Amino acid sequence: MEWKILALFFCILLSTPLPAQPQLLADSLLAHVQTLSSDKYEGRRTQEAGNLLAGEYLLQRFENFGLEQFDSTYLQSFHFYSRWQKQGYEGRNVIGYLKGTEYPEKYIVLSAHYDHLGKRDGDIYNGADDNASGVGALLEMARYLGQHPPRHSIIFAAFDAEELGLRGADHFLDEPPVPLDNIILNVNMDMISRNTRQELYIVGAGYNPFLRAPLEKLGEDCPLTISFGHESPEPTRSDDWTMASDHGKFHQKNIPFLYFGVEDHEDYHQPTDDFERILPAFYIQAAEFILNSLLHLDEHWEQLVRR
Ligand SMILES: [Zn+2]
Repeated sequence: MEWKILALFFCILLSTPLPAQPQLLADSLLAHVQTLSSDKYEGRRTQEAGNLLAGEYLLQRFENFGLEQFDSTYLQSFHFYSRWQKQGYEGRNVIGYLKGTEYPEKYIVLSAHYDHLGKRDGDIYNGADDNASGVGALLEMARYLGQHPPRHSIIFAAFDAEELGLRGADHFLDEPPVPLDNIILNVNMDMISRNTRQELYIVGAGYNPFLRAPLEKLGEDCPLTISFGHESPEPTRSDDWTMASDHGKFHQKNIPFLYFGVEDHEDYHQPTDDFERILPAFYIQAAEFILNSLLHLDEHWEQLVRR
């Protein structure tokens, strides 16, 4: 290459702003999903062996990433009775936190449910998208934030028994490890790894409109289509997702929430919701976008709320 062209090339290279650097490790994200949705975990049904194994997997990583414990444990055990199933269950949420550098007394709860449907008629419902995907992102964000401390404290909540009626989230809010008034926001992830239209939904900004503009702005830099809706203040073409996952329990306590997720697909609640069917590029971009949203809100929360 002639030197002038070479010099020009470097000028262009230096003057072009670099795209946002990926912060999450793609290999780790995918490895978490692949592991948790493998047959060994037997569909992670509450109280069954595969679910207990998934809980061990989570708390081991919480420990590795240096998350702090409430009451000297990551486990929050609870009992509940399902009238629908006509039986009692023992559930276990896996909870850890990182202390905020500027507002340690204010908490953001980042959540994803780790239970799924288990086995039925010889089929294992592996729940790769629902919701090993959300849990993988939760873990990878815990690792990242452990190295880049947030300004507000962040509670990492892997909820159990979501599939049995949001029971883990229900218990967490009934017996919260910190006063409910100190929880400023719930960010919930449930099914974030695939959509053929490359579309990721955000629910919750309709109830707290101050959240919409910053997320819309961040969405412009995201390769995915970021859509708002599926909530009462602004019904879209289909159903209302306000109570569709654990964020609904935060909403009932008047805590602002943001739910990130995709529309149902053909493998939703089927034994075919397998790792091979997730879309790795979509998943990685979705997780990056959610982390960027979380970082932005952590950085600007006080100004946003004041407006
Ligand atoms: Zn789910």
